Amino acid sequence: MENIAENLKNVLERIETAKQNSDNKERSIRLVAVSKLKSIDYIIAAYKAGQRHFGENYVQELEEKAQSEQIKIECPDIKWHFIGHLQSNKAKKVAVLPNLYVIETVDSIKLADILNTAMASAQKPLNIMIQINTSNEPQKSGIAPSDLLKVYEQIRNNFKNLNIMGLMTIGSYEQSTNPDEVNLDFKNLIDCRNELVEKLNLDPNSIEISMGMSHDYEEAVKMGSTNIRVGSLIFGSR
Ligand SMILES: *Cc1c(COP(=O)(O)O)cnc(C)c1O
Repeated sequence: MENIAENLKNVLERIETAKQNSDNKERSIRLVAVSKLKSIDYIIAAYKAGQRHFGENYVQELEEKAQSEQIKIECPDIKWHFIGHLQSNKAKKVAVLPNLYVIETVDSIKLADILNTAMASAQKPLNIMIQINTSNEPQKSGIAPSDLLKVYEQIRNNFKNLNIMGLMTIGSYEQSTNPDEVNLDFKNLIDCRNELVEKLNLDPNSIEISMGMSHDYEEAVKMGSTNIRVGSLIFGSR
């Protein structure tokens, strides 16, 4: 196994350095350790090193891990992030899993509606993020940036069992040589947040930003991310 404790320490230090080189040094930044395709032993090792937030992409895999006796006993305070594409017919299953913290990939009103119904008898609202297709390529999932205001308002006003934590993109950091280039995922996500808070008069700090993975998390932090999702740098390649 990789030296998970050391890898975690390294990533956390680099996050801190990147934050000190950014415009918003006060924010807290959450590291999500993406454990997809890695066995429970890896998760327990990271948990023992202090990590609490873990990300998974596949419904069946998350179900197995979240419901495992070993995880329940050894990682009682674990917080799961679902970060994969969620089909409507599996939404309810995920919503009710033990220690689910947030579904980061809500990409339609229909999915939000199903999740809201699934949470009808829950004690507290389900955390979600709205996934944005920041590159605007039709084959990628996420809502179009131009639909954000409408989708945000519909969820907030109609789905009382959901709590919108923020916005998420699976897009990557790209350095454009062309100043007119608009296909910059990270910048697009930040622009989405800024426009949303301005139009609805929200506190900018109330809308989280989930962006950045192993190859670009430092750039993401410099640009304002509050939730970064790192897998291979912590657990090794898959
Ligand atoms: C796999 C995955 C990650 C982590 O990717 P790494 O390159 O291993 O850090 C982050 N976010 C999403 C949505 C993923 O699917």
